[in-house]
Amino acid sequence: MERTLVLLKSDAIQRALIGSIITRFERRGLKLIGLKMIKLSPALSKEHYSHLTSKPFYPDLEKFIIHNPIIAIVLEGKECVQIVRDMIGPTNSRKALPGTIRGDLSVSTSRNIIHGSDSLETAEKEIKRFFKHDELFEYKISLSEYIYAQDEI
Ligand code: UDP
Ligand code: MG
Repeated sequence: MERTLVLLKSDAIQRALIGSIITRFERRGLKLIGLKMIKLSPALSKEHYSHLTSKPFYPDLEKFIIHNPIIAIVLEGKECVQIVRDMIGPTNSRKALPGTIRGDLSVSTSRNIIHGSDSLETAEKEIKRFFKHDELFEYKISLSEYIYAQDEI
């Protein structure tokens, strides 16, 4: 099964949206296998957003991301990297369709409440960046046969 990293950024915490966002993933049928509240260091922010450190908006992004705690989540499910990206919507929330997390809950490119890994390869790196092996949990969902048919697992 694929795994993906989700970060609920400080705007999601300030706006008390954490529960409702997690509920969306639970209701979709994705399995929660890791969850914690953390505070990013400037170094970790630079590593996580290494593709953006030269951009003019990076200082604001780092300030925004390091000054308050965030929620880190690992989700598991068949093709979940793409499923979660589709649920989140595009970076610019003003272009995000209603029904997506950004499209329903935000109106900004920089205050867009949530991060999701953009590929399977990125997901593997990002999960290792934020979670130790023993912080991820393997357990059986007793209703799994109502979430996937046997031949999909
Ligand atoms: N970002 C920003 N301004 C921009 C582009 C990105 O503030 O013009 C921030 C925003 O918080 C975004 C994050 O940088 O979520 C990472 O950017 P990326 O292009 O990876 O978008 P994402 O994968 O989050 O949709
Ligand atoms: Mg990204």
